[in-house]
Formats: sequence, structure tokens, C-alpha cells
Amino acid sequence: MNENKTDWEQLYRDDFKPWDTGRPDSHLIQTVTEIPISPCRALDVGCGTGENAIWLAQQGFKVTAIDLSETALNLSRKKTDAERCEFMQMDFLKASVLETNFGFVFDMGCFHVFHNAKLRSQFAQKVSICLVEKGLWLSISGSCDGPEMGPPRLLAQEITIAVEPYFEIMYLKATELDELSKAELEALGLPPGTLPRAWACLMRKRSEKLST
Ligand code: SAH
Repeated sequence: MNENKTDWEQLYRDDFKPWDTGRPDSHLIQTVTEIPISPCRALDVGCGTGENAIWLAQQGFKVTAIDLSETALNLSRKKTDAERCEFMQMDFLKASVLETNFGFVFDMGCFHVFHNAKLRSQFAQKVSICLVEKGLWLSISGSCDGPEMGPPRLLAQEITIAVEPYFEIMYLKATELDELSKAELEALGLPPGTLPRAWACLMRKRSEKLST
């Protein structure tokens, strides 16, 4: 899917959201608990229906969650513990009102929708602006090692080219997206049982932009 052409609001209105597992992401849970990342101000970029934002709030993070789609945000706001998060409708790349004191930024499948190196670089720069010194960003994206059908896919080099000027890469791990139901896989054009390949990338904000 190409971000420039995807009408996210319409997809959520049509109840087409096969990426939505209805559970917090396993990579997020693992990273926050194993690194560990202590509760701080957190930003979920492209939060969809809010599972990850709400999970972070339940762990004690003070969460702001943004998405382009008002319908997705309204679905989020109806969930248990949603009142613990601040949900805001916003285009991340154009947002001027976002704060700059986040300790942790998470995106599950938002960075990877940008099929354009310039936009990915803008995205990475924007994340670094939102973060405090040494703040962390965990990004989960689809991988080109997976089948062509399904979620957007990135090469490892497409990730590193965008992020390295602004972030030290703590790890870039080959993994799989969390399990989707048969119906969700079908909607993505994937056979039952497929676990689309993915990248989990944990990054730390540099104190100064690296000249490349
Ligand atoms: N993180 C959610 C949703 C992933 S789908 C989940 O794991 O279920 C990608 C999400 O990014 C969609 O909800 C879409 O509306 C949102 N999105 C895409 N471009 C965006 C942008 N420029 N600013 C904010 N959100 C965006």
C-alpha cells in the first residue's frame, strides 16, 4: 500500500483493518519488559485502534497516540483503559503541535507505509525531534524477505538509510509479524498460517545529526 494513495479513514470506515490483531504487539511487550524501558512519556505513531497505546498506559507510561483516522481513534477511545491515553487525530509528518519531551516512540506498521526515501527520512527526523536526549524509538515494519502480498515491505537498508543520521541502531532484528486470523490473512491475500516477515528496529536518538 502506498501512503500517498491510501485513504486510511475510508479503510477503517469500511471495517477493512486486517493488520489489527486486537492484541498488543508481542515485540513491544518483549522490548519494554526485557530492555527494560521504564515508564515515561510515550508516543504511538499511527496507533490504529489503540491496543499498543493502551497496553503502554497500563504499564505506567503517559501515552499520546496519534493517527490519521478519526474512525480508528474513536474505536480506540471505546476500549477499556482508553481514558489513560491521549488520542489525537494528526498527520505525523505535518504535525506542528506535537511535544518534544517523549522518552519513547513506538510505531507498529506506520513508518513502513512510506514508499519513498524522502518521506521515511522526514519521518525519522520527526521522531527524533519528538524525543528527549537518548530517547528510544521502536519501529516494527514488514520485510522484503516476506511474500510480495500482504503488508508493506522494507529492505534493511531502506530502514538504516532513513534512521541512521538521527539514531544509533541498538538492534535491527529479523522477525515475523504477530499471528493474524485466517480472515485477516485472506484480506491481505496471504494463505492460512502465513507469518509475514518483519523487522524490529530499536534505536536511540543521537545527540547530534550524523553527517552522511
Ligand atoms: N499501529 C496500528 C495500525 C497499523 S496500520 C496497529 O498495529 O494496528 C498503519 C496506521 O498508520 C493506520 O492506522 C494509519 O491510519 C496510520 N497512518 C498512516 N499514515 C499516517 C500519518 N502520516 N500520520 C499518522 N498516522 C498515519
